[in-house]
Amino acid sequence: MTSETLTARPLTRSSVAPRPLPIPFARAVLTPEARAAANRVLESGWLTTGPEVADFEEELAAQVGARRGVAVSSCTAAIELVLRGMDLPAGAKVLMSADTFCGAAAAILHAGLVPVLADVDPATAMPGPREIRSAAVAAGGVDAMVVVHLGGSPTDVVAAADAAQVPLRRVVEDAAHALGASVAGRPVGTLSRATCFSFYATKNLAIGEGGMVTTDDDDLADVLLSTRLHGMSRDAWRRYLPGGSWRYDVRHEGLKANLTDVQAAVGRAQLVAFPRHQQRRAALAARYDARLSGLDGIRLPPRTALGTHAWHLYAVRVRPPFPINRDELIERLARRGIGTSVHFIPLHCLEWYAAHCVLPPGGLPGADEVYAETLSLPFDQHLTDDELDAVSAAIWQEGM
Ligand SMILES: *Cc1c(COP(=O)(O)O)cnc(C)c1O
Repeated sequence: MTSETLTARPLTRSSVAPRPLPIPFARAVLTPEARAAANRVLESGWLTTGPEVADFEEELAAQVGARRGVAVSSCTAAIELVLRGMDLPAGAKVLMSADTFCGAAAAILHAGLVPVLADVDPATAMPGPREIRSAAVAAGGVDAMVVVHLGGSPTDVVAAADAAQVPLRRVVEDAAHALGASVAGRPVGTLSRATCFSFYATKNLAIGEGGMVTTDDDDLADVLLSTRLHGMSRDAWRRYLPGGSWRYDVRHEGLKANLTDVQAAVGRAQLVAFPRHQQRRAALAARYDARLSGLDGIRLPPRTALGTHAWHLYAVRVRPPFPINRDELIERLARRGIGTSVHFIPLHCLEWYAAHCVLPPGGLPGADEVYAETLSLPFDQHLTDDELDAVSAAIWQEGM
């Protein structure tokens, strides 16, 4: 028996917690101000939806130039609530990209609607007008659409709506990656009927969990204020304000999808740091471009002249003549302690969604091609130049 086993301590949470890779794919770090703000609310005696949420809604709406913001528990809930607010008939068809996170498809199905998957243009990994038109025609027309700005890369919402023959009031944006992006000088947040943001732990504005709808449509915003909380006509905060009444009605079918004041306080503080974080992300993207350009078989993320990129992800494509494929490169980088990820496994490759979405008759060759090649490199505002250079050097070494 070695002295080590004699002195072995019982397993504690910290001794079994997985150790992060030396260079993780992404870090979720709150600013000191955000942690202090959470504490302030925790000590205030009001924990659920209240004044912090109202202030966060106002500040985030102002940031994107929208009339209204409605905070909710997640971007997925935001998309579901907006779709429900459109009052589409049950089973109405909603077009969306095949190559995105499954949250939007879940929202469509939860709202009693049917996702129609559009293939993507391999150059952008998003559906272009051609893919949108052909998916809409093959489905016999669609009633609404979810537009995603993949990785933070701005997409032309008006052109997408035109191609789908859907009016803009039936378009909702999945902007989970796109806070800080703009299209033709207009911030993402006012381009369609309603824009849905995510504050999930790894998103550009991280709270841990949370979401927000921004819109210029007061009627929709008022419906959302109620449907995020059981369809009640008045939430707890407003019931308990001076002069508030205990009476309320329930006028809509609603979800339990409100945001708490603790989360909102964190979000407000993170919003103050947001411009600085976005600047850092743009600088890191430019540095990756410079370090990786000229390496055969690594295609850099496309740059668009359409507007400002929010740089949520830095995703390259790994293709011949790179000597190893994407999966092998993930393995080799992991062995070097470098974390990566794949955005996304397309929906037709997920069993539940393959069974519940309308797929184009010709399959999804664009999404298949992107899926086989795409690789998201370590990326967030806390990545150091040295770490980025080490990741780039490792990819060069594997590519020779
Ligand atoms: C993260 C993400 C979502 C879901 O956001 P939640 O706030 O976790 O619901 C939706 N769409 C995309 C593209 C995402 O990356």
